[in-house]
Order: sequence, then structure tokens, then C-alpha cells
Amino acid sequence: MVSIVVPLYNEEENIRLLYSSLKGVMDALQEDYEIIFVDDGSTDDTADILDEIEQNDRKVNVLHFRRNFGQTAAFAAGFDHARGDVIVTMDGDMQNDPKDIPSLLEMSREFDIVSGWRKNRKDRFITRRLPSMLANWLISRVTGVRLHDYGCSLKAYRADVAKNIRLYGEMHRFLPAIANWYGVRIAEIETTHHPRRYGRSKYGLSRTIKVILDLITVKFLQSFSTKPIQAFGPIGLLSVFLGLLISSYLSFEKFFLGKTIGNRPLLLLGVLLIIVGIQLVGMGLLGEMLVRVYHESQGKPIYTLKQPKSEKDTKPNP
Ligand code: UDP
Ligand code: MG
Repeated sequence: MVSIVVPLYNEEENIRLLYSSLKGVMDALQEDYEIIFVDDGSTDDTADILDEIEQNDRKVNVLHFRRNFGQTAAFAAGFDHARGDVIVTMDGDMQNDPKDIPSLLEMSREFDIVSGWRKNRKDRFITRRLPSMLANWLISRVTGVRLHDYGCSLKAYRADVAKNIRLYGEMHRFLPAIANWYGVRIAEIETTHHPRRYGRSKYGLSRTIKVILDLITVKFLQSFSTKPIQAFGPIGLLSVFLGLLISSYLSFEKFFLGKTIGNRPLLLLGVLLIIVGIQLVGMGLLGEMLVRVYHESQGKPIYTLKQPKSEKDTKPNP
């Protein structure tokens, strides 16, 4: 079974169009399917239209958020409620084309994640495509997952992969990168992209900054989430070492050459380096404790198995 997850925030003009073209495509396929529309706290008629569609079609499932929680939360809700073995996500603004779904599904037989690539993206250049080009380049360099287009919502996931990932902030575009930690097979496929005909885009340029901050978080978690002392420790030790070196030099001048060092800027630097260094090491140690709390309180193992075994086998390492 296939679950289609569509987040919608004030998309009243698009829903019916989307629903009918989505239905057309899915009915033509052999597979059983369900459509999960997530109404992300819309303030227009979106909610009512969705309810109406849900009543007339038992393949449609509608989730209403109490307020606007954002696209990432909408995806997460969709994943939680999806019953299919494959989950397809797409935008609800008609910019993604349901016609691409069959080829996406075809490919998802062999891959855990199939990501759409809006090769001919139909958005403004300065506010959209340019920041997105930079972001894509940066994300692919930093995370090591080579995709052309992280921002494309049209993706297919194996359900156990999607359901296993907890999403925060604006993290949905990092799903492949986060999933990659679990060791998944990722493929990319060219998809069509249409300009937005109805309604307005929900994002502005400020999204770029959020993406960069999320990228730092993802990178940090990816590299150091099980060994924070390795992230903070080396810088801390180096800082303490430099600080001690400077202080020894100043002590030498004071005790052996009889100079006054009270007014030397170098003294300040030395002291600062020592203090900061000790704090960094301390932060690393605190991090180590947090890692243990995180993994042990939730029973999260620090590894992933290919085929989940019984409860006993998936207990975390001590
Ligand atoms: N969306 C949402 N919650 C939000 C913002 C957006 O559910 O807070 C939905 C929106 O309705 C659309 C999809 O996410 O279906 C993509 O949004 P948008 O088209 O504004 O993004 P863009 O295509 O401009 O990147
Ligand atoms: Mg859009």
C-alpha cells in the first residue's frame, strides 16, 4: 500500500485540482493507496474543503492541526498516521506533478528514498532558485549526501525509514541526509515543476538562514551525536595549551626578568584561552552525559540493524 502525504496551509484554490489529478494518477495504478491531507492550521476554506473530500472518499484521510505548526510537523504527522509500506510526500500547491508518482514508486522498489529533482524549477530566480542553488551545494558538501535538489517535496520513502526519523524545526529537507546516517540507499529522479498558479508561497528569503542553522545542527548530530567530547575536546585542549604557553612566558618574564605584566594584553589572552578551553572540555563532558541520557532513557540503540529483530536484540549498548 502507498500513502501519499500532502501538507496544506491556506491552499483553498489548489485542493480540488490537486485531489482530482492525484486521484486520476493513483486509480490508474494497480496498488492500493491512501491520501493523507494535513491541514496545517489553515485560516481559509482549506479545512472545510478537505472535510468534504474526506467524506466522499474513504481513501482520503484528513488531519487538522490546531494551529500552524509548519511543513515539517505536517510531514511528521503524515508519517505517524501513514499505513502504507511506501510513503510519498508532495506539496499541496500544484507545483509538484502527481504524474511523476508512478516512476517514483517504480524506483522505490530498489531504493529506500527516492528524491525528486526539479530540474526546470519554475520559481523566481533571486529569491528562490539562487538561494536554493547555494543551499543545495552547501548541504551536499556538508552532509556528504549527493543530491541536486534537497528542497523538492516530492519524495518516496520506505515507511520504516520515514517513521524512524524524528523531525524538528525545518528539518524535512534534511530527511535524506538524516536518513543517510541509518545507512539507506538514496536515488534521485527528475520531476516536473510548475509555477504556482493559485495562492501565495509561504516562505521568504529568511528561510535561507533557517536552513543554514538547521544544516549546522544536522552536521553536528551526524558527526558527533555519540561522541561530543570529540567535538569540543580537541579545541578545548588546544585552547588550554596555548593559554598555558602564554602564561608561562609571562611568568618567566615576571620572575626571571623582573618585568611588570599587569598591563599586558597578552595576559588577558592567556587567561581567556585557559578559561574557554576548560569550559569547552566541560561542555564536551556534559554532552557525553546527555548522549547517555538520550540513548538509554529512550532505549535508542547507537546502531541500526537491517532487519529489526525482536525487542531484546534492539536494546542499546550499555
Ligand atoms: N505548507 C504548510 N505549512 C506551512 C507552510 C507551507 O503545510 O507552514 C505547505 C504549503 O501549503 C504547500 C507546501 O507546504 O503545500 C509548500 O509550501 P510553498 O509552496 O509555500 O513553498 P515553496 O514551494 O514556495 O518552497
Ligand atoms: Mg510551492
